[in-house]
Amino acid sequence: MLTTTKSEEAFNRAKEVIPGGVDSPVRAFKSVGGTPIFIKDAKGAYLNDIDGNKYIDFVQSWGPLIFGHCDKDIETAVIDATKKGLSFGAPTEVETELASEICSMFDSMDKVRFVSSGTEAVMSAIRLARGFTKRDDIVKFEGCYHGHSDSLLVQAGSGAVTFGTPSSPGVPADLTKHTLLAKYNDIESVKKCFENSSDISCIIIEPIAGNMGLVPADEEFLKALREICDANSALLIFDEVMSGFRASLKGAQGISSVKPDIVTLGKVIGGGMPVGAFGARGEIMDELSPDGPIYQAGTLSGNPIAMNAGLASLKKLKSSPKLYEELEKKAKKLMAGFKDVAVSANIPLQVDVRGSMFGFYFNDNGVKNFDDALTSDTDRFAIFHQKMLQNGVYFACSQFETGFISTAISDEMIDEVIEIAQKVFKEL
Ligand SMILES: *Cc1c(COP(=O)(O)O)cnc(C)c1O
Repeated sequence: MLTTTKSEEAFNRAKEVIPGGVDSPVRAFKSVGGTPIFIKDAKGAYLNDIDGNKYIDFVQSWGPLIFGHCDKDIETAVIDATKKGLSFGAPTEVETELASEICSMFDSMDKVRFVSSGTEAVMSAIRLARGFTKRDDIVKFEGCYHGHSDSLLVQAGSGAVTFGTPSSPGVPADLTKHTLLAKYNDIESVKKCFENSSDISCIIIEPIAGNMGLVPADEEFLKALREICDANSALLIFDEVMSGFRASLKGAQGISSVKPDIVTLGKVIGGGMPVGAFGARGEIMDELSPDGPIYQAGTLSGNPIAMNAGLASLKKLKSSPKLYEELEKKAKKLMAGFKDVAVSANIPLQVDVRGSMFGFYFNDNGVKNFDDALTSDTDRFAIFHQKMLQNGVYFACSQFETGFISTAISDEMIDEVIEIAQKVFKEL
């Protein structure tokens, strides 16, 4: 057994002054029991907690750290930038440089604007879609997460129809009535939304869903979304805050042939610093303030430290053409290993991989949407999570999160984790 007394004490102190002891709810380990470990520092593939325990990290700050912790190039870029000033609130050339890099990579973007989080990127993209189309309704999918802004914190309404109800107190129903909910990978449910509303500005989707576990959208489904948007003059938004630079260099857009109208990015483009971005073709982006009437702003947007971290990450990603292949090979090796030990322990397990993203469900059946995901055995996951943690393996503390491989994770580490899993699966 690991000793985690200091983490437990730190958590108790935190709870007195921070709601739930955390600044983002999923960190609280609520769905797996136990208390969160408090981090002292990290290096490469490993996290070190304040009790002196070491964990191999498959969370990587929920996605951003594709090069692992304390990558030298990113660290140097950040330190150099820091010495020149933390923030100016005035334009810098590095913003243009990062924007050019991003636009040159994505056919769907002529212009991009930087913000400070994924939530902000998506919130701004939705406003842009509404302003551009002059319509109010949006379509989102059950199980997709797009940050915590009002219009997007929505759950399925109780009726047969799909108009959403707020999933949090404090979100006005007057707002969420403009959010229509559809089922992931189910085009009929999307058609129903369009039958129920002639005021749909956009469909927003995680083209590779990573917030209900890992559920990639079918190519045919994405094509059908493109068609239904075109037929109704609505915009298609790909929320690639997680999948961008993770599933492939171009995210889902490097895998699927479907082209969105607006793209949101985050996580990896900040290299660990707080960054988000949204981009589209010129015609759409030019509607934004100050050129156009749609307002959007940010005191720390395009922050020079964050921009330099992002630029260093992107350059590094682009300079190693085999990187995603190698990350995917490792992800597949890990998932194949898990599948093997599950089979021999007689435990049903579903696994999937997209680039450096991997997911597994304690489920008898394949997972195509949120309802399927919810049939997974979360109690079993909780035990799995605790036992892996006790053996020095740090997975996301929920059945409904995606795991990540970083370049700091070696084949030997994966062998070691599979070996641990073999032991743990027998005890599940
Ligand atoms: C993480 C995430 C967000 C929110 O980003 P934050 O930086 O946490 O605000 C939005 N969309 C997707 C798909 C995400 O994975």
